[in-house]
Amino acid sequence: MGEHQVRWMLSIVVPVMNEEHAIADFLSAVDAALGGAVPELEILFIDDGSTDATLASLRQAAARDPRVRVLALTRNFGKEAAMTAGLDHARGDAVVPMDVDLQDPPEVILEFIRYWRDEGYDMVYGVRGSRAEDTQTKRATAGLFYRFFNRLAETHIPSNAGDFRLMDRRVVEAIKRLPERNRFMKGLFSWPGYRSIGVYYSRPARESGVSKFNYWKLWNFAIDGFVSFSTWPLRVWMYFGAIVAAIAFLYILLLVGRVIVVGNDVPGYASLMTAVLFFGGMQLLSIGILGEYIGRLFIETKQRPLYLIAEDSLTAESSDSP
Ligand code: UDP
Ligand code: MG
Repeated sequence: MGEHQVRWMLSIVVPVMNEEHAIADFLSAVDAALGGAVPELEILFIDDGSTDATLASLRQAAARDPRVRVLALTRNFGKEAAMTAGLDHARGDAVVPMDVDLQDPPEVILEFIRYWRDEGYDMVYGVRGSRAEDTQTKRATAGLFYRFFNRLAETHIPSNAGDFRLMDRRVVEAIKRLPERNRFMKGLFSWPGYRSIGVYYSRPARESGVSKFNYWKLWNFAIDGFVSFSTWPLRVWMYFGAIVAAIAFLYILLLVGRVIVVGNDVPGYASLMTAVLFFGGMQLLSIGILGEYIGRLFIETKQRPLYLIAEDSLTAESSDSP
């Protein structure tokens, strides 16, 4: 980080989709917490294809407040793509991705800044203390996910850390070099490494509206994340096959021995049937897993852009002015 830099800039990156009722509260909360504490502030909203009045109210906010900048995507690309667009366009010396629903308290950013400015950390991530706002099941499944991921994937992600964090410019530049279409942000954020530290905070319930992530989405999200950071599901079949083959070999010895000793009384329909069905199922399962990776290869090789930008309030302004 720039030690001698006096007028540093902080960018807050906020993906929004149909959040017309959240924006005013968000802006006043951010202003109250950071207004005086940051020499230069950029609040970069990414409108992720909202169908309500979100974009209109963002434009108004940008016209009123020069710190507000609006990037509108051409359609809904999903939160991860929107966040990526934000990281790509943020100009700050440090960047903080944040949800608009005030589940990430802006005051915590002051503590992030302290670790970054005063202690030289490149990455300060928020850790949800109690997760009291989540249901028991959500907490339990989240806990399982982190355990499983960190045991088997190559990148370590800190438990209960969300997207809410501060990243130094160096970290942002490193993340910008990760080209994958599959944006598992927790993994991508952790991938560069650098000096990192966690800060505990308690996460309040959503201010208004409802969460856009249900269990089915979260499950798919977990699979996505895991598959894009680990080849373990491909390798596990090797061990599974070896174990099954070893057991089968012992069983063959047993069968042959029995035929030699007691003769053949044609039993074994049940064992034959179970074996056929079991291996049929296992083969389909392993083909499915192969398919999962091949599908990803297919998507990645197309190299489609992650998002398309319809408008940027910053460049619109500068091209208008003489
Ligand atoms: N969001 C987005 N695109 C989407 C879904 C969500 O930009 O397709 C934004 C949303 O407006 C909010 C943030 O992502 O600012 C987090 O969404 P939400 O609060 O629904 O998620 P949760 O807090 O339950 O993880
Ligand atoms: Mg939320």
